[in-house]
Amino acid sequence: MSKLDALFQRDTEDLAQEAQRITRQYWGRAISLFAPLYISNFCENACVYCGFSSRMHIKREKLTPEQIDAECKALAATGIQNVLLLTGESHIKSPLSYLIEAVEIAKKYFPNIAVEVQPMDTDDYRQLVAAGVDGMTCFQETYDEALYPSLHPKGRKHDYRYRLGTPYRAAEAGIRRVGFGALLGLNDWRPEVEALFAHVADVENRFPGTDIAISFPRLLPIEGALVKPKPISDEVLVRIMCIARILFPRVCITLSTRENARFRDNVLPIMVTQISAASATTVGGYARPRVDHDGQFAPSDERSLAEVKKMLITKGYDPVFTDWRRL
Ligand code: SF4
Repeated sequence: MSKLDALFQRDTEDLAQEAQRITRQYWGRAISLFAPLYISNFCENACVYCGFSSRMHIKREKLTPEQIDAECKALAATGIQNVLLLTGESHIKSPLSYLIEAVEIAKKYFPNIAVEVQPMDTDDYRQLVAAGVDGMTCFQETYDEALYPSLHPKGRKHDYRYRLGTPYRAAEAGIRRVGFGALLGLNDWRPEVEALFAHVADVENRFPGTDIAISFPRLLPIEGALVKPKPISDEVLVRIMCIARILFPRVCITLSTRENARFRDNVLPIMVTQISAASATTVGGYARPRVDHDGQFAPSDERSLAEVKKMLITKGYDPVFTDWRRL
């Protein structure tokens, strides 16, 4: 029996106790906070499960430099110091030059800047690092190479292998923290999780100096999507996250506002080390919250940053707004 099989056979309480012990040992009681900031929702891909897909008739917008500045200012005023800049994936609408410009603006407000944009070549990532990026995220979505093309029928994302190689190129370029994961609910969860863990182990072995972050987003049903999410129960998700912590003690485990407040508060002490808070998932959603836009998904946890911070302190955790600064 493999180590993974043995872990999957253990009961949930037992897994949770071990995961919590490891989390305390390696991470103490620190929980980092970050927020996403959408600067564009143009996308050249047609992922069949996403509201930003090029086949969806939504209002599209790309923020101007002035609007990016206003958006950063509004988010920074809430106290957030760790920002994740997001776009749809478009080499035409959000090319490298646009992203570098956005990073240069964001630098005025945030010491930590990560990006979740189209996968790039190593040299492009190097330019982002030089501009001030210290983290990136790129989800593989599904590790099933046979299923992948039907879920990503159009655009550069159709190339499974290029996407799979993205964390390696980013790490090679010197990005400090590399994030990836599978979108749970596109496929049966067990093979996805096994493949994700193999991916994490390989990146960890080849780039021991790079921080790795993983998360386990559950696909949410959206209007117009061509696939229905395969259900993943709360208990299954908790078990997966516990096993991730046991296998990878030093990996950052992120939990977003896709999950509701009750679930987040319950699992937080067990294995989570980073959470998003008070997230706007629309373009320009902090400076112009009333502008009519479709978000990439509707956050389930709608608490303010102050409420999340209070919850952490009440539970005995240290909310960490930045743990790294570029010299
Ligand atoms: S998942 Fe990303 S790449 Fe795919 S359609 Fe949505 S925004 Fe574009």
